[in-house]
Amino acid sequence: MSSREIFDCIVIGGGPAGYTAAIYLARAEIKHILFTGLQPGGQLLSTNNIENYPGFHNGISGYKLMEYFKAQSEKFGTKVKYNSVVKININRKPNLNTKFINTHETVLDNSLKIQTKAIILATGAHPRSLNIDKEKQLIGNGLYTCANCDGYFFKGKKVAVIGGGDKAAEESIYLSNICSKVYLIIRDNKMKASKIMQNQVLNINNVEIFYNHKVIKLIGKQKLKAIYCKNISSNRKYLFNVEAIFLAIGQIPNTIICKPNIKLDKNGYIITKSNSTNISGIFAAGDVQDSIYRQAITSAASGCISAIEVEKYLRKSVIRNDF
Ligand code: FAD
Repeated sequence: MSSREIFDCIVIGGGPAGYTAAIYLARAEIKHILFTGLQPGGQLLSTNNIENYPGFHNGISGYKLMEYFKAQSEKFGTKVKYNSVVKININRKPNLNTKFINTHETVLDNSLKIQTKAIILATGAHPRSLNIDKEKQLIGNGLYTCANCDGYFFKGKKVAVIGGGDKAAEESIYLSNICSKVYLIIRDNKMKASKIMQNQVLNINNVEIFYNHKVIKLIGKQKLKAIYCKNISSNRKYLFNVEAIFLAIGQIPNTIICKPNIKLDKNGYIITKSNSTNISGIFAAGDVQDSIYRQAITSAASGCISAIEVEKYLRKSVIRNDF
C-alpha cells in the first residue's frame, strides 16, 4: 500500500457490511482494501451469542462470526488493514492518468493518502448511551440494544425497555410476547411513538409504563440484577428487579468522515439510493445508512448490494477514447 497506488475501491469498516462488500469485490477481482478502524469486527463483538444469523442453527458468538467473515474475504484476496480513515478528499474532476472519471483520496490515521476510484462507507453506528456507571461493563450481560437479537434469552423473565419513541414501543411489543413483564421507562410525560404504536403498547397487559422516569443506577457486577429509576417530578427512587434492560434511546451513525460533503438525513444517517450517496463513486452500506432494520443480516445484504453497484460504476465510468 503506497500513496502512488490507485485502488478500484476502498472499503471503510470491518463489520458485516464491510466484509460482505469485500467478499463480493474480491470475487469480482476488483482491486480493493478494507480498513477496519478501531473496532475490527464491528458492533457484533459486543454480543456473546447470535441466534438470528442464518446458517448457524446453534448460535454463534459475535467474535467467531466476524472471524469467519474476515477469513472468507481474505481467502478471496481482500487486504485487511487496521487503520482508521480520518478524512475523505472528494475529487470531482476526471483523472486523465487513469482514464477514469474521478478518483477520491482517503487519508489514514498515519497520514498516508490513498487514491481510489470508489469508496464503500460501512462505518456502522453506535448506540446512544445512558451515560451512567457500569454501562460499558454490563453491555451484553443484562444491557442490550436489540430486542430481536437478545430478547429470547429472557423468556419468562422481567425486563425493562428504556425510551419513548417508535423503537421503544416496538421493542416493548416484541418483548411482551416473550417476557413475563416489561417495564417501559420513559423520560418524558408522554410517548413520542406514533399513535398506532402507542395504542398497541397501551393495550398489552404485561407492559407497564413509567412516564417521567430516568434510569439512575445499574445494579450487578457480572450480570445486571436490577435498576434504580428516579421519578423526575417527585425525585422518588424506585427499584426495578429486572434481568435485562433494552436501550431504545437512539443510535449515532459513525459519519464524522462524511462531513460536510456526503449528504446525511436529519438523524445523521447517510442518504442513499441503491447504496449510492450524493457523491459519484461513493457508496454506503450497513447501519450507517439504515435507521430502521439495523441487523447483521441486513448489513451484510447491503454490503453485497454496494459491491455490485461499485462493480457497475467502475465499468461505466472509464473515459473512452474510441468514439
Ligand atoms: P458495524 O458492525 O457497526 O461496523 C462498523 C465498522 O466500521 C467497525 O469495524 C468500525 O471500526 C469501522 N469504522 C468506523 N469508523 C471508521 C473509520 N473512520 N475508519 C475505518 N473504520 C471505521 N444484529 C443481529 O443481526 N443479531 C444480533 O444478535 C445482534 N446483536 C447485537 C448486539 C449488540 C450489543 C449490538 C450493539 C448490536 C447487535 N446487532 C445484532 C446489530 C448488528 O451488530 C449491526 O446491525 C451490524 O453490526 C451493523 O453492521 P455494519 O457493518 O453496518 O457496522
